[in-house]
Order: sequence, then structure tokens, then C-alpha cells
Amino acid sequence: MNITNWIDDFKEPLFIAGPCSAESEEQMLRIASELPPQVKIFRAGIWKPRTKPNSFEGVGAIGLNWLKKVKDDYGFKITTEIANANHAKLALEYDVDILWIGARTTVNPFQVQEIAEALKGTDKIVLVKNPVNPDLDLWIGALERLNGQGITKLGAIHRGFSTYKKDRYRNQPQWQIALDFKNKYPEIPLLCDPSHIAGDRNLVEEVAQKSFNFGFDGLMVETHHTPDEAWSDAAQQVTPEKLKSIIKNLKIRSLDQENVDYHLTLERLRNQIDDKDRAVLELLSERMKVAKEIGELKKEHNITVYQPKRWNNLRECMIELALEQGLSEQFVHDFMTAIHQESIKIQNTIMAENTSI
Ligand code: PEP
Ligand code: MN
Repeated sequence: MNITNWIDDFKEPLFIAGPCSAESEEQMLRIASELPPQVKIFRAGIWKPRTKPNSFEGVGAIGLNWLKKVKDDYGFKITTEIANANHAKLALEYDVDILWIGARTTVNPFQVQEIAEALKGTDKIVLVKNPVNPDLDLWIGALERLNGQGITKLGAIHRGFSTYKKDRYRNQPQWQIALDFKNKYPEIPLLCDPSHIAGDRNLVEEVAQKSFNFGFDGLMVETHHTPDEAWSDAAQQVTPEKLKSIIKNLKIRSLDQENVDYHLTLERLRNQIDDKDRAVLELLSERMKVAKEIGELKKEHNITVYQPKRWNNLRECMIELALEQGLSEQFVHDFMTAIHQESIKIQNTIMAENTSI
């Protein structure tokens, strides 16, 4: 994809905050006045895709005036969700700086295409949330559709994936999918939306920290001055005060460091790991040679390859040894099983050679 760098125009990391939904001009201005200074972009949903009908579906286009007022009075860049071509046109008309495509829209290629065409050639920043289902290609596909219409200031937002059964979080993070995205498109900024992952304001901080541990470029955090009274997503919104403390506590881990000591130590440790891995592989190779010899012996004496008693003893001994060495039982069990299966495979090959002679 042809990507223009836009994130470097902001102070790192990038913080986007504001209410889930715009409710009134007063509410927007009040929240804007209380946000911590690290927040550079103000968010508010004015068109809200809701799971059930008869829920509050957003204030609509009137909210664009309120966003504009937040921008004029407090100097924030502003962002809102667009879910169809009409929203896209209105947002451009009102000079909304950053547009985002929500999880329920990213799933629909027709809708994304329609939005992309409505935004054709814009130099606005467009952020794409992951689809509600864990499908990396669908997420990438939405970005490609936008890029195909000449939109190059793109970003991605990880907001977790829906499941039928909720456990700790409202939406499952499945971090590996976001990390695969990051690996594939390191030039596209990746933000985390810990609010929609967590679904609970008490868990927002831990999810935010986790994303920083993985090297995300910023956060979008739903923030409301009276979260319990919010018209949507009340449980997961934090107060501006709480956001201040979350940002203060965040440990920002960079992907790399100029610090020479850090690099030298890391290199030394990585060398040690490389040496150990090589030694493990050499030992495995030696071990398989012995397994082969045993296979030949079994063949000569017409003995079965698989010896359950021997395998059970071996596994028990190894697990006992593993615990003494501070390794986890599960890990050693899985590791020994893989080794044993490989030995069996080798010995079976020897048996087969035997019969074909
Ligand atoms: C939102 O940001 O308020 C929203 C609706 O998010 P998502 O698309 O992630 O559900
Ligand atoms: Mn929300």
C-alpha cells in the first residue's frame, strides 16, 4: 500500500479521547475542558451503530457543529465514526480532521467500498477498526479499498473481537492478530482501543498497558465526565481524571533504544540464546541417531516400535527432572511428546525398509 506518514506530526504516543457518543454541546465542551494535555484528538460518535434497535443511535449531523466547537475552543483535532457514504460526505463538509470506520462497518466490503469512493483522494486521516470477527484479511482489505481510492493517511485500531461467551473482556483481544497486522504493515500506525476490548472501566488500564508492551502507537479511550450516566457504553468509559492517571502510569516501551548499554546487554543475551538453541538442536540430532540405532535393534529382534511402558517411565522421569530444573510440567510434556513422536516416526521408517527388502 502507498502510505503517507502522518503520525509523526503528533507527539508520541498518540492519545485520542472523548465520549462514546456526543450527547449535547455542553457535554462535549465539558469533557474537552477536562481532558489531560497529552490528548491531541477528541473523539465522539454521532452516528452510533447499536446492537439492538430502540437504543440511542446518536445525535446525528447536529453533533458535527459541536465537534467543530470543540476544535475551535480547545484546539483539538476532531474525529468521528462514519458508517456510510452520506456520513463520509458530511464529515468532509464539516472539516472533521480524522474519520474512523467502526468494527461493524469494516466487516462489510460493499459499505467500505462505498465510503472509500465517497472519500476519494481525501488527505484526511482515516482509521480502520478491526472487524468484529477475527479476520485479518478483512481488516487489511478495508484499508486496501481506501488506499485504492488514493487515501494514503491510514491507521488501524485494534478493538478486540466478538465472541458469544464473554469472559474477562467484552471483546477478546487476540493480540496475535494485531501483531500479525503490525508485522505485515509496520508503516501503518496501529492504535489500541482498550475501552471496547475491556468493556469495563476497571480493566481499561491493564489493556492499555498491554498494548504498549506490544509497541502500539497510541490509544483511543472513551472518556466521559459522568460515565455512569453516559447514553452508550456507560460501563467502559473512564473520567478525564482517571484518564490522567492511566496516562501517568503507562510504561511506554519503545521498539528500539538508542541506549548503548541496552544494546550490548541484549546482544550478549541473544548470543547466549543462539548458542543454547544450537546446542539443543545438536543434542536432538544425537538423540535421534540413538533412536535410529534402537530402531535397527528392534527390527533385528522383531520387536514393536511403540513400547508404552518405556514411554510412560521416560515421560515421568523427565517431568520429575523438569520440575527440579524449574521448567513447567506442561511444556516438558509437550516437548517430550514431540520428541517421542519423531523417534517413533524414524523407527517406523526403519521397519518399513525392513519389509521392503
Ligand atoms: C465506538 O468507538 O464507539 C464504537 C462503536 O466502536 P466499535 O466500532 O469498535 O464497536
Ligand atoms: Mn463506544
